[in-house]
Amino acid sequence: MADAEAWKRVLDIVKASGPGTITIVSATSGTTNSLILAAETARSGSLEEAKQISDEIKKRHIGLINDFFDLEGVSSGASTDLCVNHINKLAALLDNYLLGIQTLGELSAKSLDAISSIGERYSSFLLAECAAAIGIPAVWIDAADIMKTTSEHGKAAPLTDEIRERGKRIVHHSENGRFPIMGGFYGSEEHGVITTLGRGGSDFSASLIGLATEAEAIEIWTDVSGMYTSDPRFVQRAFSIKELSFNEAAELAYFGAKVLHPATIQPAVERDIPVYVKNTFAPEHPGTRIFSDADSDSPVRAIAFKKDITVITVISSRMLLAWGFLAKVFAIFEKHRVSVDLVSTSEVSISMTVDKKARLEAVCEELEHVASVNVYHNQALISLVGKNLMKSKGVAAKAFDALADFPIRMISQGSSDINLSVVVENDHAVKAVQSLHDTFFPNQQTPESP
Ligand code: ASP
Ligand code: MG
Repeated sequence: MADAEAWKRVLDIVKASGPGTITIVSATSGTTNSLILAAETARSGSLEEAKQISDEIKKRHIGLINDFFDLEGVSSGASTDLCVNHINKLAALLDNYLLGIQTLGELSAKSLDAISSIGERYSSFLLAECAAAIGIPAVWIDAADIMKTTSEHGKAAPLTDEIRERGKRIVHHSENGRFPIMGGFYGSEEHGVITTLGRGGSDFSASLIGLATEAEAIEIWTDVSGMYTSDPRFVQRAFSIKELSFNEAAELAYFGAKVLHPATIQPAVERDIPVYVKNTFAPEHPGTRIFSDADSDSPVRAIAFKKDITVITVISSRMLLAWGFLAKVFAIFEKHRVSVDLVSTSEVSISMTVDKKARLEAVCEELEHVASVNVYHNQALISLVGKNLMKSKGVAAKAFDALADFPIRMISQGSSDINLSVVVENDHAVKAVQSLHDTFFPNQQTPESP
């Protein structure tokens, strides 16, 4: 969604999908980040600077619209005025919010939702106007009218029954051959106050609407051709995965495969709606199809990794035959609201991984009271994701053989048998992943461009 050409590409895809297609759109690239920055800048007291950011956002959208209407085959008509009006209205609203925040010196989650949703409020309305300008009978839908959520600002939960009820309006347009276009990411709570589903939430909005409208398929259009066997920026011969099961895709998304918001899969599973991850730059590429009983030749589907994590080991001599030790340790994490990702235990020790950003001092200090504690920074988590990993003969043996040259700090096997994870030093991560990739996907000759 970066520029006018991108918008044209998106609308060509929408048009080709045929009448009735419902489009959920995210903000233009970088806009949500800029909005959040503007809000934070206002809170710290510099209204002028905050307004400058707001002005840049406004100018970017005006530029985009002008560029779009200058494209060949586009007839702007009265749309230009409508668009400029909409942009001016939102820009004024944003400036008002910024003034309020600066005056009060306070930025609540509620205010931040009102502000960060502006990106989608810009893009969805403007995209609908651009669609009309190239002859697509589009209707703009304000997500605040449809996406009803709880009032947990910043990470609101969808109220699916309400959304289904209100989604009938979208279905009605759809059935009459129109093209509804709605912003993702935001919605509103009971009283109509704007909420958001959390960063990257547009994918989630799309699958929620897919569920509510009983769509045949949910397509996530992004800038890479689906979900990959590993990160193609670092791993040679990583390739786009043809098919994934819902569980595998969710596991990969949670792991940090940025192409898909982790919650996207949930609504699709509920009605068994296939999800396609496709590339706006290569629309003819089949991308990845995610559905319930996806098949594959190899039990390992992907090798994901995440650098910069921290491992904490806790050793208690008293754990031997003692009960309550695990509970005590995890209670300390809970108290300090630090979330633990991977855990492995032995009779006397526990190893855990946490995000680098977690504030650990207080946790460690308390842990020291019950055990001896070691903290290892600059670690990387590597996960094999697939089906029946441990049941399939030789997977673990092959994996550890591929990792023979790299010291392993921690091993953990997910109970669902779709994840086998190890932790190595940051510096070894890419080489270790490459070695695993060469082992499990030896026959991929031609690297696919992402
Ligand atoms: N614009 C929102 C964000 O940047 C939502 C999305 O792009 O999915 O987080
Ligand atoms: Mg996204």
